[in-house]
Amino acid sequence: MKKLLALTALAAAATGALAQDFPGGKPITIVVPFAAGGPTDRVARDLAEALRKPLDGVSVVIDNTAGAGSTIGNAKVARAKNDGYTLLLTHVGMATTPVLYRKLPYNYETDFEYLGMINDVPMTIIGKPQLEAKNFKEMREWINKNPGKVNLGNAGIGSASHLCGLLLQTELKTEMTTVPYKGTAPAIADLLGGQIDLLCDQTTNTTSQIEAKKVKPYAVTTLKRLTTPALKDIPTADESGLKGFQVTIWHGLYAPKGTPAPVLKKLNDALKVALKDPEFIKKEEGLGAVVVTDNRVEPAEHKKFVMSEVARFGPVIKAAGVYAD
Ligand code: ASP
Repeated sequence: MKKLLALTALAAAATGALAQDFPGGKPITIVVPFAAGGPTDRVARDLAEALRKPLDGVSVVIDNTAGAGSTIGNAKVARAKNDGYTLLLTHVGMATTPVLYRKLPYNYETDFEYLGMINDVPMTIIGKPQLEAKNFKEMREWINKNPGKVNLGNAGIGSASHLCGLLLQTELKTEMTTVPYKGTAPAIADLLGGQIDLLCDQTTNTTSQIEAKKVKPYAVTTLKRLTTPALKDIPTADESGLKGFQVTIWHGLYAPKGTPAPVLKKLNDALKVALKDPEFIKKEEGLGAVVVTDNRVEPAEHKKFVMSEVARFGPVIKAAGVYAD
């Protein structure tokens, strides 16, 4: 018995020592549950760069495990070794998938350590380049004249674009044919090619397409117009007739449940440093996103915020009567 206790103490001390040394020169992987080249991927890659210095120079690599509206990637991290070397960066889907999916292969409340929020990101309602509608009003008239025929893309059931699309259809009191993808990158590719008609997606991806005039920008989803130069002339959905229409999404960082406390502290400290990195802030601002400066960068506040988002979006999603298996 004595020997067993000694061994346990030794093992604990070893884990403690390892945790204190974290990351100890070993690379860290951030799982992005959407396709490469999309908005979540963009944020993750920029954050990975900003995290490098406060994580003692280790490389932070991105693993795009896309599909099923982020739930495949989320499940991967929930089941990953809880040593701090596998993290998850995801968005509002953390709060919407528990309502949308009848069954999830993980528990969003108990299978993760919440590390802190990263940013708030507005969305844009955009159309394929071939559309004749010149503004939101004309887009609305065109949708009304073509019930069920308009194709609205999204990044999968439970994605931010899916959520925005649900809200849009509810507000417009119309139904469109929704086309799910494994992320915004493939959805945008099809929008550019004219295979889908509309998409509501984060400015972190749509800004460059809008700037290059490759898509038709119909509205931003904030109550006030955005200040980002490329987006400042786009009217809000609210001023275009959808009173109160507002969808702002966010990204957060997570580790598997049970990751040692010193590792979590190191990761959270590194996140706080990264969020103050002028380069990172500049990149985010250029894409219409706002880096978190409030207390949601604290793990407990991050978790509290996500729970409040479940409460906020739950009834809206339930009212839409959309579920996924
Ligand atoms: N923007 C996507 C969404 O609508 C996800 C992505 O590809 O980053 O959720």
